[in-house]
Amino acid sequence: MSKKELESFQKEGFIGEYVRVFNSIDIKTGEASKVYEIGKDVYINEEDMFGHSKKDKTSTKSSVNGTNDLFSQYRTTNLVTVNNGVRTIEIKAINFFYFQNMNNVAEGLIQAVNNYNSLNLTVRFELNFYTITTLQESWPLYTPGINVVIHNGSGSSLPGGSAVFPNSGSPGGQVRINSGTNNESINVNEHVITHEIGHCLGMRHTDFFNRSISCISGGNEGNAGVGAIHIPGTPAQVNVDMDSVFLSCFNLFTDGEFSNADIVALQALY
Ligand SMILES: [Zn+2]
Repeated sequence: MSKKELESFQKEGFIGEYVRVFNSIDIKTGEASKVYEIGKDVYINEEDMFGHSKKDKTSTKSSVNGTNDLFSQYRTTNLVTVNNGVRTIEIKAINFFYFQNMNNVAEGLIQAVNNYNSLNLTVRFELNFYTITTLQESWPLYTPGINVVIHNGSGSSLPGGSAVFPNSGSPGGQVRINSGTNNESINVNEHVITHEIGHCLGMRHTDFFNRSISCISGGNEGNAGVGAIHIPGTPAQVNVDMDSVFLSCFNLFTDGEFSNADIVALQALY
């Protein structure tokens, strides 16, 4: 990439230097387009970056059409058990303020929790913030629920996170949010945390079978030891749900909200 091209990216709001350019066929439309990989985990396509798409009328439709089940939402074999009524799960935000200026992560977390609670599912979240300064105060880490912690180690400067899948009927116990996520908008923080909490409830990536759909590079995550079961009731559609918050990768222009199919999927599970 030339210096001039990089400058045009920076004018569009990109901060940084690492950009790779790919040619890609859009699974959704069959259109050929350039895709820009920015940083390690954040991907922005040309249309999102520049507000237009390069239509290629000669491109053929993708060959993935036809098997509708491939294009809906997926879950792990294990889910969170709910016995009658509503199960309340505590989300414990640990030491957000030990790291300075984590306000966007905190606000994104509040909005992510609201995303779930507003669906009136049979799992409900109660969000609490904890600042732990002594070993004795570390008790929240060992109580049931989901610990949300800031990852400040290697690779944490890029926005993103990780989470744990459900086990023995309990939600995955941890969400880790890269400290670099705080440098992005509240919507990006809302998106990343909504995505990671979904993993704790058993949501798999909408494009788990081909990560390159949202990430451009990357292959099939496969069973991953946790299963990938199509969620009944998610719309049988020819194209991948590119608005899903559970796609493998995201771009910086996300609104942080569930897609319609995400809501159908979560309501089917809980
Ligand atoms: Zn994920």
